[in-house]
Amino acid sequence: MRLLIAGNWKMHGLRADLEKIDSAAAWAHKVQPAIDVLVCPPATLIREAARIAEGRLAIGAQDCAPEVSGAHTGDIGAEMLRDAGASAVIVGHSERRQNHGETDALVAAKAAAAKRAGLLAIVCVGETGAEREKGDALSIVGGQLVASAPVGMKASELAVGYEPLWAIGSGHVPTHSEIVEMHAHIRNVLIAHLGEQANNVRILYGGSVKPANAREIFGLPGVGGALVGGASLDDLEFEAILASAAKSI
Ligand code: PEP
Repeated sequence: MRLLIAGNWKMHGLRADLEKIDSAAAWAHKVQPAIDVLVCPPATLIREAARIAEGRLAIGAQDCAPEVSGAHTGDIGAEMLRDAGASAVIVGHSERRQNHGETDALVAAKAAAAKRAGLLAIVCVGETGAEREKGDALSIVGGQLVASAPVGMKASELAVGYEPLWAIGSGHVPTHSEIVEMHAHIRNVLIAHLGEQANNVRILYGGSVKPANAREIFGLPGVGGALVGGASLDDLEFEAILASAAKSI
C-alpha cells in the first residue's frame, strides 16, 4: 500500500500562496510513484492549484455538500469540486464536526457524495482528550467510523484520517503504542463493516505531524500516511515530511 500524505490548508491561502503548490508538486513528483501526495487548499484555490499541479500532485477539497445541486446557499457539491479539478475531499474533519455541528450521518452522506462524484473520501474520526482519559477512545472512534463510512465504499474510494482532537494543532502526539493500537482497531472495525477489501483502505494519522516526528510515525505498523495541517502551510516543513515518507519505505 502506498503512503498517502495529505496537506490540509484549512482556511488559509490566497492566490499568492499558490507558489507553494508548485514547490509541493516538484517534491511530490520526486517521491512518485512510491508515495501519493495530496494538497487540500481552500475551495477558492482548487481550480488554479489543479492547473499548477499538472498531475504531479493531487488536489483535494476540505468539505463537500451531500447534494448534487439545489437551493443550498454557500454549499459546494462534490461534482463541482471534481469539475474544478479536485480528486479527493476531506469529510468529517473535527473542526467541521465541532464548529458546524456535523453528525456522523451527515458525514456519511458527504462520503457517499464523494463516491458518487468519483472523489476519494478521507473520512476523519478521533476522540477528545477527555474521552481518551476515560478509556473510551477505541469505542468512540469505532462508533464514529461505522456511522460515518457508508457500507459499499470500496478501498479505492476511501481513506480514514485518525485525528485525536487533542493532538490537532497542539504539538502533542499520542504515544507510538497508542497510534498502533488505534490504527489496528480502525482496521478491524473497517473489515467488519466493509469486508476484507478494507485491508486496502489507507488509515492516515493526523495531529501535529511535523518533520521531527514524521519518520517515526510513518514507520509504525498500520500507518498508511498522514493528514498534515499546520506543517502543510510551510513548504519547507511539508517537503521535509515528504522526504521522511520517502525514507520510511
Ligand atoms: C488537521 O487539522 O487535520 C491537522 C492534522 O492539523 P495539525 O497537523 O496542525 O495538527
